[in-house]
Amino acid sequence: MKRLLVLLFYMHRFHKPILWTALACVAVFCFCFIVFFRGSDSKAVAVQPTIEMVAVAASTPSLPTTQRIPILVYHNIRTFLPHESVADKVYTVEPDVFRTQMQYLKDNGYTPVPMRAVSDLFEKGTALPEKPVVITLDDGWESQYTNALPVLKEFGFPATAYIYTVVIGHRRFLAWDQVREMQTQGIEIGGHTKTHAYLTRITDPAIFVDEIVESKRVTEEKIGTPITAFAYPFGLYSDAVVAAVKDAGYRTARTIRPGIVQTADALFTLHASLIQNDMKLFVAALERE
Ligand SMILES: [Zn+2]
Repeated sequence: MKRLLVLLFYMHRFHKPILWTALACVAVFCFCFIVFFRGSDSKAVAVQPTIEMVAVAASTPSLPTTQRIPILVYHNIRTFLPHESVADKVYTVEPDVFRTQMQYLKDNGYTPVPMRAVSDLFEKGTALPEKPVVITLDDGWESQYTNALPVLKEFGFPATAYIYTVVIGHRRFLAWDQVREMQTQGIEIGGHTKTHAYLTRITDPAIFVDEIVESKRVTEEKIGTPITAFAYPFGLYSDAVVAAVKDAGYRTARTIRPGIVQTADALFTLHASLIQNDMKLFVAALERE
């Protein structure tokens, strides 16, 4: 240090220009050094995840691919008629049994959700409640209004009713006023074609459009809101039928293939269980694989 001071003294005394040039070089070097390393530091900070970035990543969950969601299929909710055939009884649940089944759902922690909640789950990641189940009512029978709706209201359960348009307003079927009232009471309305057609047998594209697209338009016009849930009449579908239902703007389509595990890549072939007037079969439909 002492030698350095001596050197600076002599430099100052005899070689002033050289001294000032050297000091200027040192100053420029220090300035460049500081600028370079401060720049590197700010770059390093930029690529490090901030607290905010970590929080955003945590709140954007990846979409689910599979979930257990039993879908229950009801038709008529009424007392059996005298001399009713066994085949007819398959599509009928008596009102007291229907009530017992709803009570079973409540007592066992199931939470009914409308079908649109299923598409919201797989498309948007909107979580479903614990033990979700979808109650569906097919074909627009008037007994669904007179016998099922009061029970569903009592339990506070939503449901999805699939109607085919040509029968609405006819004897033993719902009227459009009843369809609208069901909707205001928490029942989602879904499409089920115009005439309950065998869709896989249709070869005329115009009939295809009439059954799937036009029936959707008519229903939406009558109830005043878009419909997004579809059910295949007789549970029948093919690749062409699935494509037509997707093109019409539906977001889900329900089959009657038994099963309760629904997957994101099968929103147009959802599994479901036909519900009969039998508690053992009902419980089995909730618990099957
Ligand atoms: Zn049907």
